[in-house]
Amino acid sequence: MTTICANLQTVRARIAAAAETAGRSTGGISLLAVSKTFPARQVREAAAAGQRAFGENYVQEGLAKIQSLADMNLEWHFIGPLQSNKARAVAEHFHWAHSIDRVKIAERLAAARGSQRPPLQVCLQINVSGEASKHGVSPGETAALAHAVAALPNLRLRGLMAIPEPTEDQALTRRRFAALRALRDTLNRDGLALDTLSMGMSHDLEAAVLEGATIVRVGTAIFGGRTRA
Ligand SMILES: *Cc1c(COP(=O)(O)O)cnc(C)c1O
Repeated sequence: MTTICANLQTVRARIAAAAETAGRSTGGISLLAVSKTFPARQVREAAAAGQRAFGENYVQEGLAKIQSLADMNLEWHFIGPLQSNKARAVAEHFHWAHSIDRVKIAERLAAARGSQRPPLQVCLQINVSGEASKHGVSPGETAALAHAVAALPNLRLRGLMAIPEPTEDQALTRRRFAALRALRDTLNRDGLALDTLSMGMSHDLEAAVLEGATIVRVGTAIFGGRTRA
């Protein structure tokens, strides 16, 4: 067995154990393998081990891998900061975008996606850490953004994503995840139908699963340490 294959088994076992603790079914939690900085060869290895969904942070790097793995029928998620001038490439080549934090980006994605293809699946990135984080829309501005994005054509608003600030304080991280879930629940009471909470990475996926994550985004624990961000 390859290292990546063994790592995938370990991560899946961690998800299963956390799901059991939470009294949840593992069927409601998908594993997004974050392959940023790793070559297509290693993505192929993970795909051979049964992994289908991959996350990328950089548009050009992601496009190169999408192209060289076109034979594999994989699902590609864009999870990095979204710039206006990259929106077209994301809309044309990815299945999901997790990091929408303003309406202008969503409008560009919607226009570029067009109506000939299935809608782009999108999440709003929420800043659950206040001044400790620069990315994401603030919780107070989320409802307005969510209703605006839900009204756009060619996109399907699936849910919310967050990256809590790095900390050793696991209770704090867990409160951040709980806050994201509470925000999702509030939006759903307000008429939206969000089924996705994209939260949890290599070091905190258990806390995320305990708080209701439906997608965990895991890089290091599958592919190993990165030499660049
Ligand atoms: C890099 C990255 C991950 C994966 O982080 P690991 O700690 O390597 O598991 C998850 N989500 C986002 C948005 C990332 O940029």
